[in-house]
Amino acid sequence: MVQHRQTASNLQHRQPIAHRMLRGILDRGNASAAYLFVGAPGLGRLEAAHWFGLGLVCDTRGGASKPCEECEACRLGVANHPDVHEVHKTQGRSSLGIEDVRTRVRERLSRRSYTGSRKVVIIPDAHRLTPAAQNALLKTLEDPLGESTVLLLVPGSGYLLPTVRSRCVVVPFRNPGLKAFEEQIPSELPSHQMGAKELFLLSGGDVGAARRILADDEGSKWNQHRQLIDDLSTDVLSPVQMTRWADHLPTDPEEAETTIDSLTLVLRHLADATCVSKRQYAEAVDVLVRAGEMIRSNANRRLTWEICLIKLRDILRETYNISTLD
Ligand SMILES: [Zn+2]
Repeated sequence: MVQHRQTASNLQHRQPIAHRMLRGILDRGNASAAYLFVGAPGLGRLEAAHWFGLGLVCDTRGGASKPCEECEACRLGVANHPDVHEVHKTQGRSSLGIEDVRTRVRERLSRRSYTGSRKVVIIPDAHRLTPAAQNALLKTLEDPLGESTVLLLVPGSGYLLPTVRSRCVVVPFRNPGLKAFEEQIPSELPSHQMGAKELFLLSGGDVGAARRILADDEGSKWNQHRQLIDDLSTDVLSPVQMTRWADHLPTDPEEAETTIDSLTLVLRHLADATCVSKRQYAEAVDVLVRAGEMIRSNANRRLTWEICLIKLRDILRETYNISTLD
């Protein structure tokens, strides 16, 4: 059964600003054509988008707060409602292109509403829209087709063209802050090699995500990546070992991105602990960002990782101060 009330209460607790904004829009019934849900993954943006999206098509007449959980639309839910669509990138593709916007966003919004309600499109990875796709989307936003609303979820508003941003109402999803996070994190943390701060960064401040990281192998991945950076910095890897590492790093663009994020966090941790200098940190992150771009553009991924590791080693090995490591 639907649990929209629970979602609303979670949202109110974790993201009071976003909740207040969205609640107000549902109560007044004056939705705009586009909203930008801005915040790091793990802050509850998708849950909020589902709740808000359903609230937009809820047809309660009794004055109950939307989504009411009672009407037909609410019983159908986001996954089954014919006027609510979630648009993901096609499997195997790293971006959402112009065709995706034309056929899966614009075409759907141009259809007549099945239930007479507003039509809603949710794009959970809107930061993966190519500039051409964003321009195609802009046409829809500038000239909304009937009663329709597009929800774009992005980690930061800078991922979208200014022309698109300016058409959207921004709904901010804020990090809860390290202190609040530390008060809530599970007690098993001290036994883990990852510190509270790393876990905070890795989980986007989301306690639920943090628990999942601790429970599954994300934690061990962190330790692996920490080991890799340590080995590169102390220059103890033979060429064969370097190649082996490169072979083990992911070639799937999305997984590669997660690995790059994780390696960046390890580096930030080391920079905070002054094991590496700010300059080394900046140069190393630059190398990782470039590697990510190469992998996304279908360059030879193994070779890209190998070159990336060699560059990281050359940057990090200079003045790495192993004695200050905890
Ligand atoms: Zn309803």
